[in-house]
Amino acid sequence: MLQKRLEEALNQQINAEMWSAYLYLSMSMHFQNEGRPGFANWFMIQFQEEQAHALALMEYLNARDCKVVLQPIKEVPTTWDSPKAAFEATLAHEKNVTAMINNLYAMAEEEKDFATRQKLNTFVAEQVEEEDSVRQIIDDLTLIGNDGTGLLQLDREFAARTFTAPQL
Ligand code: MG
Repeated sequence: MLQKRLEEALNQQINAEMWSAYLYLSMSMHFQNEGRPGFANWFMIQFQEEQAHALALMEYLNARDCKVVLQPIKEVPTTWDSPKAAFEATLAHEKNVTAMINNLYAMAEEEKDFATRQKLNTFVAEQVEEEDSVRQIIDDLTLIGNDGTGLLQLDREFAARTFTAPQL
């Protein structure tokens, strides 16, 4: 069992990961509609990764003899002005997620829950990678600007991205 507040915070984190998944699925559908299949693919993989994050936390709560309580997932935006705007929204959102995970980590330390702290280590590392890769894409998109050839090339590159289940 976990301390009640830690159990509640982990349940909130599950909801946040599911919201992330829903956000990226929405972005994927947006880019499908815009005729950019590579960008759509990139966000579809992101959707799968976020589901994996949520599932890993669910498995962890179950393993600690706690109850997973699924909450409604709030609505997400459905349109973005440009690919860069979508990635900027992604970075802003991931920074919020990082802050949430840091708070969870601090709570696990306060409660001297070393197993939870260890579980969260992979999430802390995952957030660094997440933010870094999105920042690089924003840099690329800044360089590309409105150049159609550059956008097409990036779309082709993103079309080749495949899902690898994160080791959590
Ligand atoms: Mg996540």
